[in-house]
Amino acid sequence: MTETGKEGRRLHLGLQFKFAVTYVLLIAAVLLFLNTYPVLSTQELIFRSKRDTLQSHASLLSSGLAGLEEVTQAGAGQIMEQLSLHGLTQVIITDAHGVVVYDTDQSAQSVGTRCDWPELTTALSQSVDVLHPTFQDGAFQSRAAAPVTVGGEIIGGVALFEYDTDQGALLVDFQRNLRSISLVVCAIAIAVSLVLSRALTRRIGRLLQGIRTVREGEYSHRVKTSGHDELAQLGQEFNQLTTRLQTTEEVRRRFVSDASHELKTPLASIRLLTDSILQADHMEEDTLREFIGDINQEAERLTRITEKLLTLTRMDSAPAASEPAPPTAVAPVIRRAGHMLEPLAAQSEVKLVYRLEEDCLAPCDEDGLYQIAFNLMENAVKYNLPGGSVTVTLAGTREGTVLKVEDTGVGVPAEDLSRIFERFYRVDKARSRAAGGTGLGLSIVQDTVRAHGGTVEARAREDGPGVSFIVTFPLPAGAQAD
Ligand code: ADP
Repeated sequence: MTETGKEGRRLHLGLQFKFAVTYVLLIAAVLLFLNTYPVLSTQELIFRSKRDTLQSHASLLSSGLAGLEEVTQAGAGQIMEQLSLHGLTQVIITDAHGVVVYDTDQSAQSVGTRCDWPELTTALSQSVDVLHPTFQDGAFQSRAAAPVTVGGEIIGGVALFEYDTDQGALLVDFQRNLRSISLVVCAIAIAVSLVLSRALTRRIGRLLQGIRTVREGEYSHRVKTSGHDELAQLGQEFNQLTTRLQTTEEVRRRFVSDASHELKTPLASIRLLTDSILQADHMEEDTLREFIGDINQEAERLTRITEKLLTLTRMDSAPAASEPAPPTAVAPVIRRAGHMLEPLAAQSEVKLVYRLEEDCLAPCDEDGLYQIAFNLMENAVKYNLPGGSVTVTLAGTREGTVLKVEDTGVGVPAEDLSRIFERFYRVDKARSRAAGGTGLGLSIVQDTVRAHGGTVEARAREDGPGVSFIVTFPLPAGAQAD
């Protein structure tokens, strides 16, 4: 078994053991309570009834004896005959000193001896009735003692003993039945808890195995989920997380391969050009200058690509801002970008037209705004036609601040409109390359806009050829549109 497998099994067993022990302890506590409480309360009920019976017998006997002037054997016998007390095992009648004058158990031959029952001693010394029921050896053994008083003076005592096996047997039976039922319940509960805990830990184990498989880089792995409980939800969440991971990984791989490809192309051109220069015995100065000029151009292209890649990587790794950036005036930034583009526009014979509302603000820093405006306006010039125009509109609307960059250029086919924001995506590779494009400008625009809570979309112009790019920044919190 592998290390991971062993570790998983240990955790699996650990959890299962903990679950099972918890269940069993809980069940044991409940059964212990069920085994003791009903037995004790039944016993207490019987004790109470024994006390009542013995108390009434003792009172009856002592008040009968109180009618005699002196407690004698004959008098006691007479009273006993008159009262005919039922259910008692032994009745002892003594004088005031505890000397037995009458005993129903003649075999004990106790008459004339001192009765040593502690109950009687207490009753005579403290002039109180003493009732003492007990449950021993499967029988209720109850003793009671009471003084016989005449005018406040103790003239004798009575001691009663009841040995009840009938009710004792009932209680023992009750106790035995409860114990048997408890044992059966306990066995069933342990079996059920083992089955349940095994099923639960097996599901957790599957999830754990899934997490490990994905951790090893197998992003296509999914865990099987069934039911609607928390574990099933955990499994579904995990699968969603894995799907996201897989998508991110695919995007990352494509990005890395696209980036290497993009970097390889100018490098290959540079190598080809330098090889040609090195291998030529005699090269004319004009040709040499042309070659070196080409090398310079490819090096510039490399610089542009790496700069944009760096910008994108920085944005990817920047933590999401918890608060929106302070509002920045947009119009001056647009003018600055336009100013930088004037030579290119003049060279391409493209006119820049501005329709700007001066007081428009956007929750974006100045560098970000410049990236957005410059990239959109540069594209609008780059992919334009001689004699064409670029119109930049800035307006405050109900939705927020809207920046629109429209051109009269070559346009983008409808099927490519949604893809032009992808990294390295170019509609016309040759044209982009000729215009010094990298395929990263619109990705940077989209990432920057989104990082500041805005949206960007590209639409084909309705009133002619060309594209219009619309950037919308939300209104600052609390601001009201007019
Ligand atoms: P590039 O550096 O190639 O311009 P971008 O990310 O800025 O990269 O743009 C991606 C692609 O979208 C371009 O190669 C081009 O094909 C297309 N595109 C962008 N803007 C325009 C536009 N204003 N008119 C026509 N095509 C455009």
